[in-house]
Amino acid sequence: MSSSLYQNRQRARINTQRPCDTPGCPRNRKWTTSLCSQCGDRRTRHGHPKALGIRKPEYAPLLKLVRDLFARLDGSTALREAEHVIRLALDPGPERRKKRSGPGADAYHAWRELSRLQAAKVSPRRALEVSVAIMLYIRERPAQFPKDAVMTARAVANAVYRLAPLYMYHYGTTVADHRTNSLKPCAGALDVLGNRVRVGLAPFVRNVEATLAEEKREENERRARLYEKLTPTKRKAS
Ligand SMILES: [Zn+2]
Repeated sequence: MSSSLYQNRQRARINTQRPCDTPGCPRNRKWTTSLCSQCGDRRTRHGHPKALGIRKPEYAPLLKLVRDLFARLDGSTALREAEHVIRLALDPGPERRKKRSGPGADAYHAWRELSRLQAAKVSPRRALEVSVAIMLYIRERPAQFPKDAVMTARAVANAVYRLAPLYMYHYGTTVADHRTNSLKPCAGALDVLGNRVRVGLAPFVRNVEATLAEEKREENERRARLYEKLTPTKRKAS
């Protein structure tokens, strides 16, 4: 074991002199990986070395549309089924034994994050609204998000896991040092939830997309009437 650490150190000494594999990135590689620390973090969190997270204000307008539509869909079979899918996706299941890395670690991390959401009483409806908004956001931007299952799954899970305050990580070395940082969900936890939602909700998201498009078309047609030719009756000669 110690010899492999020694070997890794030797490899890292050479590897960190080499440039990051991402085209256009000016930094050097981290440890024995092919990417710099920033590109590596982005790949872990968002599924691609150049991907950035989708921030709340970016998808807020879509979220509003989705929430408004759902409020008018009360009692709809499709909506009830979608809520059922999300309820299953959010279920942490039985308690898992602590396993930080290796096989089975994904299930442990997902159980831990989902238990956090359950303890904070995040409602399935709220999670459904956010998931659908994120998936619509991605579908509207094929250039920014090429058809990529990993990027979609991580974007959805990142947004849903943030519906409750993240675990805090204590940085300090002394009792007086109270610096903390939020503990971001790892790639394994993101993929477990993200894939359940992405796969389970795909048909529903296409359904919502078609409904919103139809409503927009009707609205546009209504507005177009403002441009219709005006044909007043002739004024009588006095
Ligand atoms: Zn890089």
